[in-house]
Amino acid sequence: MKNDTICYSGPIDGVARIVLNRPEVGNAQSRQLLYELSDAFDRAAMDNDVRVVVLAAEGKHFSSGHDLRDRAPMTDFAPVGCCGGFDLPGAEGWMATEQELYLGLCWRWRNIAKPTIAEVQGKVILAGLMLVWVCDLVVASSDAEFSDPAVAFGMNGHEYFVHPWEVGHRLAKEMLFTGDPITAERAYQVGMVNRVVPRADLTRTVTELAERIARSPTMGLKLAKQCVNDALDAQGQWMALNSAFGRHQLGHSHNMQVHGRPIDPAGPQLVRDRSARGATARQS
Ligand code: ZN
Repeated sequence: MKNDTICYSGPIDGVARIVLNRPEVGNAQSRQLLYELSDAFDRAAMDNDVRVVVLAAEGKHFSSGHDLRDRAPMTDFAPVGCCGGFDLPGAEGWMATEQELYLGLCWRWRNIAKPTIAEVQGKVILAGLMLVWVCDLVVASSDAEFSDPAVAFGMNGHEYFVHPWEVGHRLAKEMLFTGDPITAERAYQVGMVNRVVPRADLTRTVTELAERIARSPTMGLKLAKQCVNDALDAQGQWMALNSAFGRHQLGHSHNMQVHGRPIDPAGPQLVRDRSARGATARQS
């Protein structure tokens, strides 16, 4: 199966491989990409010959986040949730759209009853993190780095707000307050990443890990996954996600009132200035 934005292959030895395929824009997530990714995950979930799912990305970077230039109307797609009202005025339509596209899709993918492995290289920015964090395991190449500079845009973070669980509350605050990226090695140290390997070994490492997991009984795998997810839910992850999503919508509404846009328009320049200062600091 090859769509415009996603490549799907397999299963080979029980492993299906889904690849984000917009390398020319750093795998920015258009609405079309999200729905084609949704179709791919659904296909893998429904195919009994698929026992493990790998999510990878073509090109230098895993994903640069939302495609902010995407203007595709929601009527172009078949929603998977039941929010509706995407075209309603004010905060209502925007909230419904983000609930469907981001929180809703991510929660479905997080709960697929099969192990999923993210294969990550290069930059992972803002909503790029969402696609990594919905996966059960993460294998990163040594050049990978992870950042959420949403605060520069007058926002709390991206829409799938599991930062405190992924990197711990202290580093989550540092990442959000500064917008600075964390390296693959740092992500490994705090348990966000399972393995860090050279770029040349990334796909082979993930494939070997996936094939090894695929030899286990599917019943055991799905029960183990569900038990870990249940533990996260018992800690309040779903409630915290919804609370953060509400604050995220408050951020969008505030920016609409103050700037006439859902994000602070000064954000991109602030991020550029910060990364230029960081580059200068690294050289000195
Ligand atoms: Zn948003």
